[in-house]
Amino acid sequence: MFRFTSIKDYHTALNAAHTTCVQVVKYYLDQITAHANLNVYLEVFSKEALAQAAILDAAAKQGKRLGKLHGVVIGIKDVLSYKGHAVSAASKILENYTAVYTATAIQKLLDEGAIIIGRQNCDEFAMGSSNENSAYGPVKNAIDISKVPGGSSGGSAVAVQAGLSMISIGSDTGGSVRQPADFCGVVGLKPSYGRISRYGLIAYASSFDQIGIFSKTIEDAALVLEVMAGEDEFDSTVSSKPVPPYSKLIERKEIEKTTSPKKVAYFKETLFHPGLDPEIKTKIESYLNDLTAKGYIVEAIDFSLLSYLVPTYYVLTTAEASSNLSRFDGIKFGHRTKQSIADLNDLYKKTRTEGFGEEVQRRILLGSFVLSAGYFDAYFTKAQQVRQKLVDLTSAVFSKYDLILSPTVPTTAFGLGEHNHSATEMFLADIYTVYANLVGIPAISIPLFTHSNGMPFGLQVMSASFNEAGLLSFSKEQMNNKV
Ligand code: GLN
Repeated sequence: MFRFTSIKDYHTALNAAHTTCVQVVKYYLDQITAHANLNVYLEVFSKEALAQAAILDAAAKQGKRLGKLHGVVIGIKDVLSYKGHAVSAASKILENYTAVYTATAIQKLLDEGAIIIGRQNCDEFAMGSSNENSAYGPVKNAIDISKVPGGSSGGSAVAVQAGLSMISIGSDTGGSVRQPADFCGVVGLKPSYGRISRYGLIAYASSFDQIGIFSKTIEDAALVLEVMAGEDEFDSTVSSKPVPPYSKLIERKEIEKTTSPKKVAYFKETLFHPGLDPEIKTKIESYLNDLTAKGYIVEAIDFSLLSYLVPTYYVLTTAEASSNLSRFDGIKFGHRTKQSIADLNDLYKKTRTEGFGEEVQRRILLGSFVLSAGYFDAYFTKAQQVRQKLVDLTSAVFSKYDLILSPTVPTTAFGLGEHNHSATEMFLADIYTVYANLVGIPAISIPLFTHSNGMPFGLQVMSASFNEAGLLSFSKEQMNNKV
């Protein structure tokens, strides 16, 4: 039976004619059916994936040049547009909406021979930390189905965890790739802001959003990043910096040549946070000690702004969301109320009340409030000032250190329904991840640890903007040492 380990091994098996793309797609379709209880996919593109696999097999037979992702089976979070396919942001408001163009990142995957197998469940409009805010029901963690997978890209994380795709593409505004990766025991990479085009990604908070990658290995994440990154005339915020050959740069001989990162910092306050699980704290501390023993310089630095991160993040992202989501009004596209209406405002109100779930409504209200005339300076301007302070602090840190390390999340995956009663309690799950989005740096969660409660948890590694190569090299070494 087919077993996926890495893209490289899969390509070796294809070359040796041990398997074909069609056989592999069939295998994934079977797995998806067998694990339907996890609620990972909102839609599976079965016929199309099989047809695409047949085309790729034929191309290989004819000796045509094959793409870097030839036959790689990829699932995409339901916030990424793929022309002719439904995309709903797991919301009722976009229930019958079909994408009219393809996201640049997805097009780049297709151009390199990837097979898109389906769209994956997530929190509505990517707002949440547990995948319980989806209009289509929660996703379950495959290690323990009474536990959440994390969010908002919960379906994407579980797909890789449970072998329902080789790779998943998610989005990360405040941790939505790294936090579920941590809860599910897989790799989750959020690149620098502007590394991958956001064209075709349904916006949540545009100055935070970034497309991210779930994989089993660092090598696969590096290769997929290399394919998706780069300039795009449809996104003015994407960087025109050339895309380094990440997959080559993390090969051992290259790492030795360039001397991989050696000076790492951690924020003292992250390890003394009262919400941090004591066992996660102990394991991360002893991990840092081991790094010192291996010759790394590991230093604690003060981070008095830690308690401001979550409030700053939620003021700014809800403000941006209230503006971004104003387009879903029942006129332009998506759901429109069937109730009788008095006037235009009534139409908007009824449509939006029916179409948006509770959490999305809460955030639109909060965002409109922080932007309103009387409160703008007290909340929005203040939060922008904190963001600037964080940016300054970050450049000071990276002038001395190569990397910042922290736990990814303060706890392991919690139970379904456990944090549903309190939005602010749920927000605290994001305390370590929102920082990277506030300042735009790349960050990854790597699955290094297992808790005595049986659940996995990760180490979060962050680097200076656009130093994905350093970030990935270090992460690869850590994963190799684990094995
Ligand atoms: N949990 C965070 C939120 O709800 C992060 C979401 C995300 O990264 N999309 O906003």
